[in-house]
Amino acid sequence: MESRIQRVRAAFASGRSRPVRFRLQQLEALRRMVQEREKDILEAIAGDLCKSELNAYSQEVITVLGELDLVLENLPEWVAAKPAKKNLLTMLDEAYVQPEPLGVVLIIGAWNYPFVLTIQPLIGAIAAGNAVIIKPSELSEKTAKILAELLPRYLDQDLYVVINGGVEETTELLKQRFDHILYTGNTAVGKIVMEAAAKHLTPVTLELGGKSPCYVDKDCDLDIACRRITWGKYMNCGQTCIAPDYVLCEPSLQNQIVQKIKETVKEFYGENIKESPDYERIINLRHFKRILSLLEGQKIAFGGETDEATRYIAPTILSDVDPESRVMQEEIFGPILPIVPVKNADEAIKFINSREKLAFYIFSHNDKVLAGWELITGNTALILFLINVPVY
Ligand code: NAD
Repeated sequence: MESRIQRVRAAFASGRSRPVRFRLQQLEALRRMVQEREKDILEAIAGDLCKSELNAYSQEVITVLGELDLVLENLPEWVAAKPAKKNLLTMLDEAYVQPEPLGVVLIIGAWNYPFVLTIQPLIGAIAAGNAVIIKPSELSEKTAKILAELLPRYLDQDLYVVINGGVEETTELLKQRFDHILYTGNTAVGKIVMEAAAKHLTPVTLELGGKSPCYVDKDCDLDIACRRITWGKYMNCGQTCIAPDYVLCEPSLQNQIVQKIKETVKEFYGENIKESPDYERIINLRHFKRILSLLEGQKIAFGGETDEATRYIAPTILSDVDPESRVMQEEIFGPILPIVPVKNADEAIKFINSREKLAFYIFSHNDKVLAGWELITGNTALILFLINVPVY
């Protein structure tokens, strides 16, 4: 492992990755790869997550192509030296800020959107002039395999290297010194990554998971709120980092929400969800069993059907969920939506503030309720105000 990384470091030291023209060429080659091998990429994603071509294209490929276009268009301006304001110490100097590559970057990808979550950070790392070690998730093994096969055919083979493997290989990789680590995945491994990076004082970018609550106010367009929650929760079978994790609402809204989500699920996936080309499967048996165990002792208001052989879990809603139950303690990362009744918006804010959170969603027409959400504190990665503007 050490010698492989040393070779990448030597390639970086040659200075080849630095000229903007070279970076643009590599990014153009990456775009060619996505365009020419689109079918293989979509097939690999389908093999990992049972995802239709349309879903894989719209959820992963479009984002990658959009990112490439953005970077190709703006890179010359981004890397140009920018004049810096002078002060007493620098008044006689030519002062400017020049963005520089860091060196060798490690990208550790996750399996839930296995293509975009690995390629998007790669685009940034190449654009910034770095050499890169790419470690796709071993759980999405077909996408990992296609990345190892395709990337060396299109990109500089010494500067950008795919290393496949499991926990053992990632652990070994993390013992090496990198100049930056970009990790996407769960919080527990996030801590392992940060600890390993600290030994070399390597800066890290951690894209982690967590619970993302929704508050549905009584003063909102319930049809639109439920439509959006249904879309966000059940796409990719609930395996999306910022999927709505649970719903907080006043008790009187609970049954209406169940009913409306049920109708929307039928509209999105048809009568026989198992046969729908738009409904994915759980990544592996371990996660299937983990999600199933979250149903124990819960009141299933809708769904609940499962099939171990195909790792199918139906879109499911749990009602009157106890805030202390297991399903409310950890990120669900599956198609189960608990509803926890609360008295009002104030109680919902207190509830959310007392727990870890990633993103949160509010559905309300009421300015006072919306203003109250500025009181949300803590390590929220993303705050989304989804008020009911009728846009789909
Ligand atoms: P995963 O199991 O594939 O793990 C991610 C990576 O960590 C893999 O490459 C794996 O090799 C490595 N890894 C696993 N265990 C390790 C260990 N003990 N030591 C060292 N390396 C190890 O993916 P996951 O963590 O199940 O991914 C899902 C999580 O990612 C969810 O929590 C989700 O919310 C989060 N996520 C966050 C974002 C975001 O942008 N914030 C995006 C997608 C996913």
